[in-house]
Parts: sequence; structure tokens; C-alpha cells
Amino acid sequence: MSTSRLEVVQYPDRSSNFSKSVDLKIGQKTLMTPNFCVRIKNSEELDLLLSVKSRHSPSFLSSYVVRLLDTPRTLYSKIRALSQRSLFGEATEEPFSSSLNRDILFIDPALEYLHYHAENTLPKISSLFFLPKILRDYAQRCIKEKKVREKSDFQKWQDAFYRRFWTDIYEDDSKRTRLIRDIHNLEIKNKTDILIPPVPLITSPHLLNIAILINERSRELARGKRESADYFLLRVDALRKDEIMDRIKQHIENAEDTRLTIFKFKYMNLNSEERTLEKNAYKSLLMELSLLAQHSENKAFMLLEGANQTFPSALTGFDIVSSSFNGDKEDRHTRREHSPFAKWYDPEYMIYRSRDELMQIISNNGNVVPCYCPVCATPSSFLTDDFIEYNRNVKMHYLFSREAEMKEIFEGIKQKTTRMGADKLQRSQLKNLADLVPVQP
Ligand SMILES: [Zn+2]
Repeated sequence: MSTSRLEVVQYPDRSSNFSKSVDLKIGQKTLMTPNFCVRIKNSEELDLLLSVKSRHSPSFLSSYVVRLLDTPRTLYSKIRALSQRSLFGEATEEPFSSSLNRDILFIDPALEYLHYHAENTLPKISSLFFLPKILRDYAQRCIKEKKVREKSDFQKWQDAFYRRFWTDIYEDDSKRTRLIRDIHNLEIKNKTDILIPPVPLITSPHLLNIAILINERSRELARGKRESADYFLLRVDALRKDEIMDRIKQHIENAEDTRLTIFKFKYMNLNSEERTLEKNAYKSLLMELSLLAQHSENKAFMLLEGANQTFPSALTGFDIVSSSFNGDKEDRHTRREHSPFAKWYDPEYMIYRSRDELMQIISNNGNVVPCYCPVCATPSSFLTDDFIEYNRNVKMHYLFSREAEMKEIFEGIKQKTTRMGADKLQRSQLKNLADLVPVQP
């Protein structure tokens, strides 16, 4: 197994004020930034990504992320086929194995679901036999209490239980080591390149201490074997809490051994008018990350569940940005989809359109889809009534759209101007995010 570390290669002609494009190297793999890392939740989505990659060789889609909970339905059959092929000595390259040689794969432990009982995550955690027993036990206990308690009473109980669970991990050395090791092993089994530690959702300074300790221990345990990232999993209101944000920034500055730092802000939408304070704090975070990266060697940053912030964060501060195919929306709503047709990402307005809205846009646009990607170029086959096929097309279009956005940023940086980023946001439905882009002197 490779013991290589993540290297950041800087280029003088790929830097402009608060924006830059670097190469991230790990082992034989090189990823050019800004890079869009799509979150994949099943093997069909992975097949789509692999087919776009093998047919169109995009430059800025060289990574993807799978939540640990989604690994069985996303990666298991592919990994099994891989080992069978090598058993029979088959030498033919197939898309997944060539992707493993080229792309960077992340497995996100996503333990925020111990706190947010979104979708059906509790029963899922309790029933996935491969997960560490301590996590399954936690979920089982929550399910049991949920049945017998009133809603408000359950919430109170669950908050206390959550805190106790993590305090226990903090205080008990062997429990903590076992949890980190178990998660590392699962990530390695799923062919990850860079380990992501099992940290809590940070809702208080105490939980931040626990996250920092787990990050540090994870790096120690991975030393000499693999790269281990630092991971900060936050709620959007943490942006307003100086004691949390300052401590994280300080930690990044001092943690010389950390090469990749990952952030996830749950349910963040800074385009909303009510989020001005958080937006200013996020802007200062972006600027600080970009300064830190400029002044230190081998520091890179990644944003998970970027949602509306995906584009501006790729422009300043983050090297890798990620979102799911539907802009991380499934986490915000229950899965009561009114239409079987997925939403189409409008590359100009940077929001998602229902099929009806898209039809209206096309008819107002002289029967042309306002997009230059290979999928939208042939509306007759794209706009099929078969929703399975339509949804595949919409997802492929999404990948092409994000690739185009990353390329736009890359070109802007090379021309030493990121003004285009602010202009683009200004023209879109994400106007409020235009001031995340630093003004050029
Ligand atoms: Zn398109």
C-alpha cells in the first residue's frame, strides 16, 4: 500500500490574489484544482460519473466522495468484481479500476447522523453489520428511546445522550482508538486515498475539543501508512461563534502536519437574506484559508456539502468542493418527491429547475436548452418521458455544468482576474453570494 503523502504543487502562473489553482498529488494521482468532487450515493450514479469520465475526460472532476453508510450500495459490487478479475488474471482495464488509478476517492464517515436523525439513518446505522458496534449500539438505543418518549422529551434526552457518547470517546483512550481504527479500516477497504476521521458534529466548544483530539489521534494512527485529513463538521450557526471559528483557524495554522483540512457546514444556505452575519464570517474564513495556503507548504482545503456555496468557495479558499447531484437538497427535505423527474441545474441562474420549469424555459428560448453541454445539445433525446433516462441525463448535465464552472474559475485565475466570478453570481439567483468574492485591488 502506498505511504505517500499529499503534496501541493504551486504554479506562479496559476495564482491571482485570493484565488489559485494548484496540483494535488497523492501517489501516482494528480488532481488539478479547483476540483469538483461529486457525492455519489449508489452504483448507478458511480457508473454515470465513470462514463462521463471515460468518454469526455473532464479536467476538474477527478475526485468523488461516498458516505460510509452508502458504501454497500455504491462500492461493494465493484470492489468484489475487481478482486475476482485479479483472481482470474484478467488484464483488461474497466472503468472502475482505471478510475481507482486516476481519481481520488473519499469515504465520509458522516457521523452527523448520530445527531440529525435525517431520512432513515438511525435504522440504517443500527442494521449495517459492518459498522463499529459502538455506533450500532448508539443508534439502537436512540430508536428504543424514541418509541417510548414524547417528542420534546426525546430531544432533550437525545442531546444529553449525544454529548455523553462523545465525552466517553474523549475520555476513554482505548474506546477512541478502536473507533478511529475501525473507521480507518473500513475506509481503506473501500479504497480511499485519504482517511477522514470519525469526528462529532461540533455544537459546542467541548465538542470542538473532542473533534480536534480525534483529528490528531487519527493522524498519529495513520502516520507512515496514509494521509489523514482534519475534519470539522459544523452547523451553520457555528460561523457566528468566534470562540469556535477562531479556535479552528488557530488549529489549522498550528497543525503543521495536517495537509488536508475538510469542512462541512450542515444545511448551509448563505444566499438567504437572514444569514448576513454568517455570510460575513464565511467570507473571512475563505480569505483566511486562502492566505494560509499561500503562506504554508502543502496545505489544501476541501468543502463537503457545498450546496449554494459550491462555486464561490471554489473561487476562494477551497481546493476541492463537493455537493450531491441535487445540490445536497435531500438532506433538507424528507423524501416526499412530488415528481419522479429530477431537477435540472440551471447553469446560468445556478439553481435547480423542475421539469415543468425547464420546459417553459426551453419554449421561451426558441426550443433550445440554454446550456452548452453534450447532453443538452440534443434536446430530443435529453427530454425523454422516461424519467429514469431523464434523470440520468440531468445528472450527466450536472457534472458537465460543474466542470464548466471549475474551468471558468481556472481560466479566470490564469487571466489574473476573478471579477468574472462576482459577475456570474450577480447575474444568477445567488446574487447575495456575490460579496463572498474578494474585491480585486
Ligand atoms: Zn447541459
